Amino acid sequence: MNGNTETPENCVFCKIRRGEIPGEMLHSDDDCFVIRDINPASPTHLLIIPTRHFTYLSGLTDDILPVIGRMYMVAKQMAEREGVSESGYRLIVNQGEQSGQVVPHLHLHLIGGRQLGALG
Ligand code: 5GP
Ligand code: ZN
Repeated sequence: MNGNTETPENCVFCKIRRGEIPGEMLHSDDDCFVIRDINPASPTHLLIIPTRHFTYLSGLTDDILPVIGRMYMVAKQMAEREGVSESGYRLIVNQGEQSGQVVPHLHLHLIGGRQLGALG
């Protein structure tokens, strides 16, 4: 984990939200925004990202819980928009080094559009 990216100033997702680097904004509200993953693992691969820069779930506090709830609601709506709601999809949160998390800003992966394999 690169400690240099753990601030909103250097964070790739915060930079996209601020318009400092390109990213197709599929949805944006006070709680979260949605972009397509730059390196998609499936035909549909979206990232649902809280507007506020949270790094890890270990820092989760009660005041953030409504944001987490909204992220799941937006994920459901995005799955409908992408046409994967009926076929099924997977929501994944990577947390920490052994999960493979590379961007230290909490985010929900929405992956679908093909038959997915087992988790491993
Ligand atoms: P993680 O492994 O941290 O859970 O997932 C981070 C995801 O962010 C990866 O799937 C990666 O492809 C995606 N990503 C990294 N940099 C960018 C970027 O600049 N733009 C977009 N749209 N996605 C990115
Ligand atoms: Zn950030």
